Amino acid sequence: MTVITMTKSPIALVARDVASAVQWQHVLSVHLPNEKIVQFADLQSREKAAVEIAIVANPDPTEVAQLTNLVWIQSLWAGVERLVAELGPKAPPIVRLVDPELARTMAEAVLAWTYYLHRDMPAYLRQQKKAVWQQRPYVHPGRMTVGLLGLGALGMRAAGRLKDAGFVVKAWSRSPRQCDGVETFSGDDGLQALLVASDIVVCLVPLTCETRGLIDARRLSSMKEGAGLINFARGPVIVAEDLIDALDAGRLSHAVLDVFDTEPLPESSRFWSHPKVTVLPHISAPTDRDTAVRIVAANIQAYQASGIIPATIDLARGY
Ligand code: NAP
Repeated sequence: MTVITMTKSPIALVARDVASAVQWQHVLSVHLPNEKIVQFADLQSREKAAVEIAIVANPDPTEVAQLTNLVWIQSLWAGVERLVAELGPKAPPIVRLVDPELARTMAEAVLAWTYYLHRDMPAYLRQQKKAVWQQRPYVHPGRMTVGLLGLGALGMRAAGRLKDAGFVVKAWSRSPRQCDGVETFSGDDGLQALLVASDIVVCLVPLTCETRGLIDARRLSSMKEGAGLINFARGPVIVAEDLIDALDAGRLSHAVLDVFDTEPLPESSRFWSHPKVTVLPHISAPTDRDTAVRIVAANIQAYQASGIIPATIDLARGY
């Protein structure tokens, strides 16, 4: 906990998307009536030098860097990988959005797309295109193992949802974790054990130096023959070319991808037309404006009252 002496200056709102900045500014102003919230483009030079708090949504890092007096940054997003990478080790403390509603939405998405693979929907889609009437065998969820990479705010909730649906759930994290009814793993051997055992692997780890390229040809070759893969974390956690090779070789049956190295996914990407890939436009867990604004407003009010910055991410660890 860092205690800072409080002074009042405008709060900067830094967002790349102007339309969304206008909406955020409106709802934030309603929930923080005693604060002056100013979009970056409207800040005077002396205000830029005085701002202590920046609320950011996919910001241009060069704009954030112009706020030289920042005490802390509040992100409106749960994932702050780009911010961490682009602001570097000297970044001010970063508070990411931790919202139970976001975790609920992500857990719902994990369950929905797990069912998509579990009930063989990609195969039925292929059959329909060829007018093939063929019933495929039903597999009870209790005979399917779902392996979660990441057991944080989102992974924990997803694990609960999958368990309640009857799947066998295994999960892997950086440090050893406990989760009721879930077999947990950490470390390299733990990852190997999870990959070997899982019918569906769901990626929910943040992108850090350690997780970039985590799922490469070697790891893919450890996965069960015909396993499915879901990536709801960040594109570069999986090596795209290695994934395509594994799908082409029949090693994996299908991949559901919500996140990519470059977003929007370029038209030239092979993922668009790959028959064993489902492309989603980064929609698995969008920020809920109503719940997020309450959490952010509470963080800022608490800071203004006490000078205590809310829990921040560990810049050295990257998440
Ligand atoms: P979190 O609470 O920080 O949890 C991260 C989890 O990943 C923790 O269990 C952590 O281990 C584990 N982890 C981190 N580095 C690891 C490593 N090197 N090896 C093994 N495990 C590692 O994050 P969260 O809130 O669950 O969010 C996870 C990610 O979801 C975000 O960073 C973002 O990329 C993504 N996301 C995507 C969307 C979307 O719409 N697609 C929306 C929101 C978030 P420990 O438990 O030991 O710390």
